[in-house]
Amino acid sequence: MAFESLSEKLSAAFKRLRSKGKLTEPDIKAAMREVRMALLEADVNYKVAKEFIARVTERSVGAEVMESLTPAQQVIKIVSEELTALMGSESRGIHINSKPPTVVMMCGLQGSGKTTHSAKIARYFIKQGHRPLLVACDIYRPAAIDQLKVVGEKAGAPVFELGTEQPEVIARRAYAHARDHGNDLVILDTAGRLHVDEELMAELGRIKEAVPVDETLLVIDAMVGQDAVNVAASFNEKVGVDGVVLTKLDGDTRGGAALSVRAVTGKPIKFAGVGEKLDDLEVFHPDRMASRILGMGDVMTLIEKAQETQDEKKAQEAAKRLLENKFDMNDLLDQIAQMKKMGGAAAMMSMLPGGAKVSESDLEGSDKMFKRMEAIIQSMTPAERAKPALIDPKRKRRIAAGSGTRVEDVNRILRQYEQMNKLMKQMKKRPKGGRRRLGGM
Ligand code: GDP
Repeated sequence: MAFESLSEKLSAAFKRLRSKGKLTEPDIKAAMREVRMALLEADVNYKVAKEFIARVTERSVGAEVMESLTPAQQVIKIVSEELTALMGSESRGIHINSKPPTVVMMCGLQGSGKTTHSAKIARYFIKQGHRPLLVACDIYRPAAIDQLKVVGEKAGAPVFELGTEQPEVIARRAYAHARDHGNDLVILDTAGRLHVDEELMAELGRIKEAVPVDETLLVIDAMVGQDAVNVAASFNEKVGVDGVVLTKLDGDTRGGAALSVRAVTGKPIKFAGVGEKLDDLEVFHPDRMASRILGMGDVMTLIEKAQETQDEKKAQEAAKRLLENKFDMNDLLDQIAQMKKMGGAAAMMSMLPGGAKVSESDLEGSDKMFKRMEAIIQSMTPAERAKPALIDPKRKRRIAAGSGTRVEDVNRILRQYEQMNKLMKQMKKRPKGGRRRLGGM
């Protein structure tokens, strides 16, 4: 997970601070030296790290902290506030024009994730009731148009292409097409190069002259680190950038780009890419990211993800069936599918407070467990799923063989199911007003 090492180092520094009762100025300075090292090791721009430390130190050695009853806590609060400010304070999505269509131009180096994120953003807006049009402006790589078509179809957005016509001509025609066909959002997927070059910048400039671009989004691969920040600075200087889409934050990036890009370019990070799937897109919230970096979790994003992926009707039905003691293996299968849609145990744990400390192997273990449970339930007959009591030892062996698991695994699921039912019966007996929640697995 991104920021893992930074999180660990910061928490070690804070632990030492907490172990002291009152804090002296040298205590704080020593802690800040550690924080500075941690930031530099996370590939944060040198100047950005230096200024950050200066601000935090200045605020921390004030009377407000040193005389407070929980000085270490106060310092952590200041670090959290300054981290948030560093990444841009409030989150900003894309401004949708009152007079459609809104035009978004995606630009960035090759492989940064432009095509994938064009489709992710299309999908994000489709979910909000918009009708985006994806436009293939990368005319140099023959596979680029096909790739956009593939992801466009997955996202449920139409793709406009004119083969190897000039990009600015494609953009102009796409704009007219969108107006005629009721597409209120035009997303231009432009060409990338391996390095920043004049020709590419000129081409992006011509596109901007041809159509009224509302948002120029620079797509940056977070794994690239410091260099990403330099790239951002040149794109901003030459083309003008309104915001950044920071991709591949799911990898083990050290996080420097996320922490420096705003400070160096003055442009906000608007979206974060957190995986290869089209749903792996988050609106970037600096405060939530700061909270994740400091190991305090990001419960808000987790709740939003749950709301987004949970099929409200299905969830209510499941809750009702649970209360009526009718919750069967089919419902359990649905619940597992929901968990998987949210990115599985690993993605969810990383957003819980202290989540970064859960070991990778534990997480892999729980994702494997869900897969196993799913395979087992899928090997049951419909009658068995509705009434697991029907499953006799012979069937258990068949189910285990059918799902590539062991009889113990089948027994375990049946036992868990029994326990859940028992628990529900007990809860039903409780007086009214007691809280009823969907039982966990
Ligand atoms: P483009 O050349 O800028 O259009 O980049 P692509 O959209 O083709 O992406 C390059 C590669 O990065 C592809 O293999 C994508 O699947 C992968 N990728 C894009 N975004 C993400 C992300 O947020 N996380 C991960 N893990 N992979 C990504």
